[in-house]
Amino acid sequence: MSKINLLPKNVAELIAAGEVVERPASVIKELIENSIDAMASQITIEIQRGGITYIRITDNGIGIEKDDVPTAFLRHATSKISTDSDLESIGTLGFRGEALAAISSVARVKMLTCTADSTEGTHYSIEGGVEQSFEEAGCPKGTTIIIRDIFFNTPARMKFLKKDVSEGNACTSVVERIALSHPEIAFKFIRDGKTTLTTSGDGNLKNCVYSVLGREFTNSLIEVADENGGVRVKGLTCKPVFCKATRNSQFTFLNGRLVRSGTVIAAVEQAYKNSAMVGKFPAFVLYLEIPLDTVDVNVHPAKTEVRFSDEKRIFDSVYVAVKNAITKSDTRPEVKLTEPKFNPFENVTAREYRQQVISVEEKPKYIPEPKIEQKSPVLRSRTNFDFMNSYSIANEKGEKIEVRPTPKTDLEKVVEVESKSESPRLQPIVEDKPQIVLIGEAFSTYIIVQMNDSIFMIDKHAAHERILFNKLKTDQKIEVQALLTPITVKLSSSEYDSLIGNTGLLENGGFEVEDFGNSTVIVRGIPSFLTGEDINSVISEIAEGLIKTGKVSVERQEEIFHTVACRAAIKAGNIISRTEMQSLAEKVLLNKDIMYCPHGRPVAFEIKKRELEKQFGRIQ
Ligand code: ADP
Ligand code: MG
Repeated sequence: MSKINLLPKNVAELIAAGEVVERPASVIKELIENSIDAMASQITIEIQRGGITYIRITDNGIGIEKDDVPTAFLRHATSKISTDSDLESIGTLGFRGEALAAISSVARVKMLTCTADSTEGTHYSIEGGVEQSFEEAGCPKGTTIIIRDIFFNTPARMKFLKKDVSEGNACTSVVERIALSHPEIAFKFIRDGKTTLTTSGDGNLKNCVYSVLGREFTNSLIEVADENGGVRVKGLTCKPVFCKATRNSQFTFLNGRLVRSGTVIAAVEQAYKNSAMVGKFPAFVLYLEIPLDTVDVNVHPAKTEVRFSDEKRIFDSVYVAVKNAITKSDTRPEVKLTEPKFNPFENVTAREYRQQVISVEEKPKYIPEPKIEQKSPVLRSRTNFDFMNSYSIANEKGEKIEVRPTPKTDLEKVVEVESKSESPRLQPIVEDKPQIVLIGEAFSTYIIVQMNDSIFMIDKHAAHERILFNKLKTDQKIEVQALLTPITVKLSSSEYDSLIGNTGLLENGGFEVEDFGNSTVIVRGIPSFLTGEDINSVISEIAEGLIKTGKVSVERQEEIFHTVACRAAIKAGNIISRTEMQSLAEKVLLNKDIMYCPHGRPVAFEIKKRELEKQFGRIQ
């Protein structure tokens, strides 16, 4: 082995550069961060050929004093920290003092900079780590840095670059993310001569998100603003129905810095549990502010992974903030009708038309009273009861009449249990409850009702499933129906294992299941909701569900509840009485908790009266 040598400065710098300068996008990231640290309020980024041949960053920040310029290009030269204790509370984006040294060792770099109180600026140029010129120059306040021919002296690294387009896209994505992290800074991004992004820098989050991510995204978002346990969480997150197929639209900013944090993602996704469709991911832009000493950013050279000293506190704060925002803002998905195709003025004059509209609108408003139908025996797939008979109702004088109970359906049982604490349902509607007028049912699937200024279409299966699911989740003890003849169910070995490993959770769900050996279980009791169901198939469905669900026991418990709720709920096509429809509609519309079925499908859609009026040309 040969003698140990200290590496020459330029070789050491080339090696170090590898950590910071991976591709044009990483150069841009470092340089924009420098501009932000220099308190710029306007930053322009220009690239050509994906940033490989040309990058320019111009800012209006504090600039660098002439004498400091060459120093700034030395390794470990930084104005941002000076002692080890400063490392404990890093408030700037840079602090390693590496970027300029690294970039200038693998590219041709020019800097023009001028501080607020100097009359002359400085022009400095350095190529492959070697100073080319250092002189005074007239220039505006702030700093412009131009990087040409990245990796010109390291052809091996050059080979690793992708096509111009890919490198350019990576630069765009960096600029977008940084722009999102600083709504108070006006960004402009020019790519191959075209301005592709501008933000106003007015400090308004929504405007910033709009500029960066587009209108469609912005309109689907709800605001988050909360503070728990010293953690401030604000920003925007999407309505559950707008969840996306990938996690690409998830942005977390921590004290102004874009970070990746599994904890934050997990907390947000947990908050969407049971609201978003399975397999879809929430889109969000969240800004977290936490005390500087509770986070360790010095984890990864690219500094995007963060570690929190108290992960649980972060998880809880984010979860609560997002959950609250979703719950508060949750409105039912609204059906926007397409623009009316006919021209209302085609066959009548505008004046005639307006008169007609006025005469219709002046008529006294007539809202039909909810009809309570006299039941006649009808064929039902699951039910053979008279829904009305099962609990007390009020007669015209307001007196309660108790009616003889008859066998009940699952739906009825739920309604009954849930209404115990409430006043009887079919009495005259009290003032503060909005009146829900049943219009009817379409395709034996969608219940149509009118409430306030809207029409709602309710998917009766999804609605009933959600009601049952909520009940299963909140009930302390689920009513168990013991089976007179226990049922044995033969399963695949993985299904068998999943059931045997979860007998406790099954018991919470109202099942009494025991091991019968030889991949077989014996079912001695079932939740009474499921009386009459094909227990064999329910049990294998639960087993399959458990196999797919992760290790978290809460999730596995919910999976069992999902299956029970889904199996016990009335199905599309089942015939139900108008009273049942009315009751379901009330449950759904008067309870904010019933927005989505447990799989995240919406339970109801809203069509606003205004939308109809627009459609019919009554209003513009
Ligand atoms: P770091 O950002 O980690 O301190 P850099 O190598 O990126 O290290 O920058 C070195 C120093 O150069 C910074 O600490 C800062 O003082 C100065 N500097 C770099 N870019 C700018 C800029 N755009 N405006 C003002 N000062 C800058
Ligand atoms: Mg820096």
